Formats: sequence, C-alpha cells, structure tokens
Amino acid sequence: MPDKVHTKYILNEDEMPRAWYNIIPDLPKPPAPVLHPGTKQPVTPDDLAPLFPMALIMQEVSAEPYIEIPDPVRDVYKQWRPTPLFRARRLEKALDAPARIYYKYEGVSPVGSHKPNTAVAQAFYNKEAGVKKISTETGAGQWGSALAMAGAFFGIDIEIFMVKVSYQQKPYRRSMMEAYGATVHASPTNLTDAGRSILAKDPNNMGSLGIAISEAVEVAAKSGGTVKYSLGSVLNHVLLHQTIIGEEALLQMAKADDYPDVVVGCVGGGSNYSGLVFPFIGRARQKGLKTRFLAAEPMACPSLTKGVYAYDFGDTVGMTPLVKMHTLGHDFMPPGIHAGGLRYHGMSPLVSLLHDEGIIEAQAYHQNQVFEAATLFARTEGIIPAPEAGHAVCATVQEALQAKEAGQERVILFNLCGHGHFDMAAYDAYFAGKLEDYEYPAEEVLAAQQRMPQVG
Ligand SMILES: *Cc1c(COP(=O)(O)O)cnc(C)c1O
Repeated sequence: MPDKVHTKYILNEDEMPRAWYNIIPDLPKPPAPVLHPGTKQPVTPDDLAPLFPMALIMQEVSAEPYIEIPDPVRDVYKQWRPTPLFRARRLEKALDAPARIYYKYEGVSPVGSHKPNTAVAQAFYNKEAGVKKISTETGAGQWGSALAMAGAFFGIDIEIFMVKVSYQQKPYRRSMMEAYGATVHASPTNLTDAGRSILAKDPNNMGSLGIAISEAVEVAAKSGGTVKYSLGSVLNHVLLHQTIIGEEALLQMAKADDYPDVVVGCVGGGSNYSGLVFPFIGRARQKGLKTRFLAAEPMACPSLTKGVYAYDFGDTVGMTPLVKMHTLGHDFMPPGIHAGGLRYHGMSPLVSLLHDEGIIEAQAYHQNQVFEAATLFARTEGIIPAPEAGHAVCATVQEALQAKEAGQERVILFNLCGHGHFDMAAYDAYFAGKLEDYEYPAEEVLAAQQRMPQVG
C-alpha cells in the first residue's frame, strides 16, 4: 500500500520507458494525407527528403504502435529524465475541492521545458544521416534553446530564425541559444526571399512564428541538401517523441495507486499536450475507460475552439505542405499575448483529428485568469509556471472548482510543461494590471480563413 502522504512519484533511470507510443494505429480513422502545395496531391517521402532525414519521415507515417528509443537518445534523456510527477497537495488545500491534483513537471530539463524530448531525438537522427547543419524557427525561444542544446551535444550547427518581437523582448533566451553555439537572427530578415517579401510590404514587421517557419524552410529547401529543417511541434514525429512524458506518467500514477479522470495540457502546436495525453488515450481506448482529455488554449489564438478543420499551410508565406488541421488561417496574426508558445494559427493534425472525433475537449482562457491561476500555483506549489503552462493550471483549477460545485470527487493530471523563469516580464505586466484580455479576433480570423487554399 503506497504511503498516502507522498508528494512526488519518481522513477529511477532503469525504469525510464524504452519506447515512444505511436497513437496512429489507435486512431478511430487514418490521418488525412499531407498534400503537396503545388499539385495538391499527397506528398511522398521523397518530396520531404530535402527537409528531413528519412528516419524522421518514416516515423511521420509509421503504423508501429511503439518505436524504440535509440540508446544515444536515452543516454541524453537520463540527464533529467524520468521527470517527477507531483501531487499538488497545497494547491488542493487552497482550492478546498474534492479533487486529487497531479502534475508532471517537464521544467527540470536543462532549458526548462519539454522541448528537448524531441530536439535530442531529431538531432540524433540528423546526425545519423550525416547532416551538419539544421535551420529552425523559434517564437518565445523555448524551442530554439532546446535545439541549440541538442545541436551542441551531437555536433550539428543550428541556425535559428527568432520572431523579432521576442528577439527584442527576451534577450536572455537569445543569449542562451548563443551560449549553446547557435546562430540567431531576428525574423523577418533580409536573408531569405520570404523575409524580404514581408519587409518590402512592412519594414517594421515584428514577425510571427509562421513567417519564421517560412524563412527556416527556405534556407533548408535552397541549400542543395546541405541544410535540413527541424520543427519543434505540430508534426507526428514530434508528438511521438514527446510521448515519453505520458509513458512515464502512466507508471507514476500506478505508483501513486491512482488514475486520472481528466488529463489536461496547454496547446500551441500540440506537442506537450499530446506527449502527456496520447498514452492515456491509448490506455482508455484499449481498456474502455471514460477518461476525459482537455486542451487549454488562449482566447486570443483559439485554433481548436474557433478554428475550422480544413487544409491549410503550416507557415505564413505558403511554402509548406498542406495539412488538414484546426486553423485560424495561415496569415492570421495573433495578438501579442505573453504565452508566445501558444501564438500559432494551426494545430497538430493528430490533435485536430482527435478533437474532430470528440475524443478530446478544448477550452479557451483569457490571459488575466491564466496568470491568476499561475500565481496561485506559484504561491502553493512553489514553481512559477511558464505562461503557456499557466493555461493548463487555469483549466485544472476550473476542473477542481467544478468538481466542488458538483459535489464529486475528481482526479486531475496536468502537464506543467515548463517554468517561467524567462517570462518574469509577463508576470510584471500582470502584477501591474497591464495585461490586456484580447477578445477573440473574429473578424480578422474570418478574413484570414477566406485567404486559405481551396482543396477539393
Ligand atoms: C513550445 C511550448 C509550448 C507550446 O508548444 P506545444 O507544441 O503546444 O507544446 C507550450 N509550453 C511551453 C513551455 C513551450 O515551450
């Protein structure tokens, strides 16, 4: 009988899962094909070969239920994995609700978020393929720091297009990437056609994740094979690598002798959410469990709750393949909220399919309620959440309060996907009462959606 007053459930290195979980064989229907932007025909592995090493392309379409984690990747993971699973006892007390709240803490990685789970894997497969340089984009800087670190470990040069507004507002994330040896540009730049086309229209453009993706893809596409491209979210293989989170959490919940009624995470492109949730979805489908799965997103950029489920580009300029996903329109410019990692017009195709099938739920939250919940969390649990993770905290608090109202017990598990130590300016703005709650920008979304590509 486990001790009922445990606060954290830890696994030792030998207990770290040996495989990633692939949800594709457990989906109610196969994912829609990815289409070539020119021909609108399904892309082939060869079409993607200029951008990604073949091992990752094969993972993108794999139907194997589990994919073994290579030893060199496991060796790096062991520096911070397995990550702890906590029981939020002081938060529970503060809420005075009949809820048992657990959180998986990914902020213990060297860069402070879940992102290295895939950065390390991607760097490994690129290294195996003989790649010497990778281009990528970063919004708030979490992904850029993770890939910069992984590049340093595997001896690969990393070139990063960082959204200009973050480049200026978050100088320490940039320094961090440079400390790992990466090259960082403020996007839009003059280095690519995509960047130049944006600057020609608007010399003061402050950038967006979609524009930075266009620039990074262009660098790889025009390199004649010497540079590959890497994405930190959205794609199937990225979500696959993140499932180490949920595979560990399944073992840890067993150690706690408990099981969640609802599993919660924040969604930007969907990777940390899927990482925790997918193994629990697999378990629920295999065992007929009634577990709920809740995705938390910002009101200012609500792709799941307000987006259309349709084919769209992954980037702003329209260079990437077309994927079927929940989208606000590829050239929609989200307002400048502080959860930079959630400012993306689209959503992972796998998360989108699961939402469309009614397997996962979504809720959108305003910034101020997110920071209120994040502050309560800091004052009870001690960890200052990243603003993105604050959305998951906010959803969890509401779930607990709903349980209280309904007079029902509820077991909640959420992903605390990163700490907020580089985001204190956002907390400053909240404490000063200067955070704006943007209403859902309905008109701009509608206009952007009318500019989406027409597919059959
Ligand atoms: C990148 C990031 C996100 C958003 O990306 P997902 O792919 O949706 O996880 C959320 N939280 C943190 C801490 C991040 O670094």
